[in-house]
Amino acid sequence: MKPHIRQKFIVGNWKMHTTAADATRLAKAILDGISIMSGKDCVSVAVCPPFPYLALVGEILKGSCVALGAQNLYPEKDGAFTGEVSPTMLLDLGCKYVILGHSERRRILGESDVFINQKVRVAVTAGLNVILCVGETLDQRNAEQTEAVLDRQLTQGLADVLSGDLNRMTIAYEPLWAIGNLGHHATPQQAQGSHALIRRCFSRIYGEKSAQAVVIQYGGSVKPENAASMLTPQGVDGALIGGASLDADQFLAIVRAGISEVQTKGKSA
Ligand code: PEP
Repeated sequence: MKPHIRQKFIVGNWKMHTTAADATRLAKAILDGISIMSGKDCVSVAVCPPFPYLALVGEILKGSCVALGAQNLYPEKDGAFTGEVSPTMLLDLGCKYVILGHSERRRILGESDVFINQKVRVAVTAGLNVILCVGETLDQRNAEQTEAVLDRQLTQGLADVLSGDLNRMTIAYEPLWAIGNLGHHATPQQAQGSHALIRRCFSRIYGEKSAQAVVIQYGGSVKPENAASMLTPQGVDGALIGGASLDADQFLAIVRAGISEVQTKGKSA
């Protein structure tokens, strides 16, 4: 099957960072930078601020080429769930995307694959686009369990998600050992290898056509210095960015690397 030349999908996850003033400045700087970038049609860009600043940032991005995303949701439409945020609320605030299954929520908040699956199903049914994070720990990689871990996270995370809803799903491959610049970096080859495992799992569940179509981002210490090489391998369709998304210049440099990668591949196709 002919490999797809996909648009690159670049997403900033601001995590529990920024104040209202920081979020305003950052969103404006990102929007100003992207608005004047040539080739911006080669990329899709979204930012995911903390819940309290979604409305603020949503107002700045309204009608622009930068989409708004949230970092989590609770899998109910409404009800007595103190402190939680529903998919309806996110849509109301203008969110197009939601990140689910991030390793920090799995590890620190104890979210299980089953709970993440509930969120995924509720989100896509509500009309949100999901960025489902998967990835192995260093111990699991060293024990050669990467494929089994990815397989489990995808099989359980996507349980009962219909193939007709797959156009709402993006997968972010985020090896835990590469997140937050902890001294380990995935190589482009390691990312490409894991993305191939993810596509194999998709192929088994949904068939080869869906496996080729699914957008798979890489996440884990993507910076301007390594963005070009991390976005080059066939099958790496974009990046989910933590730390570097908090600096507009760095984030914009990564977006530019995505554009130039798509343009280069387009010329040689
Ligand atoms: C993340 O946690 O999703 C992430 C990719 O973070 P960082 O870019 O800082 O490694």
